[in-house]
Amino acid sequence: VKNPQPPKKVSNIVGYRRKRIQLAPKTASAYKALIKAARAAGFKNPIFSVVSGYRSDAYQAGLFKNALKKYGSVKEARKWVAPPGKSVHRSGQAVDFYLGHPNTKANVGKLKQTGAWKWMVKNAGRFGFNPYTREPWHWEYNLSRPGGK
Ligand SMILES: [Zn+2]
Repeated sequence: VKNPQPPKKVSNIVGYRRKRIQLAPKTASAYKALIKAARAAGFKNPIFSVVSGYRSDAYQAGLFKNALKKYGSVKEARKWVAPPGKSVHRSGQAVDFYLGHPNTKANVGKLKQTGAWKWMVKNAGRFGFNPYTREPWHWEYNLSRPGGK
């Protein structure tokens, strides 16, 4: 997704560690359907709770600044955090799920071993969520070409 646009409206959901998360309304509905199925399949809270949803450009700017510090170059930072205005999270249609380990570059392999991730690969499409392989935690609702971050 080249130019993700902010949602006209957002819906609030309760996220990871009871954090208030905002999502585009249709994404929030799809998430609620997905979580219901995941709970029925035996996954318990906090698995599949949302770590990050809609992010404002100001918030994204802070994340990018931190990524620059962490990764040392714009090129490397951009692999993991989009600059403000470029993140799919500004659309409210990107969801970072908690799958059992912190969502970090170091945990990518470990996250792909989890039952939660395997369940997502099999089932998320039914609810309109597409994967982004570089980041196993990041899923995008109803976007034909996932852009990640
Ligand atoms: Zn994400």
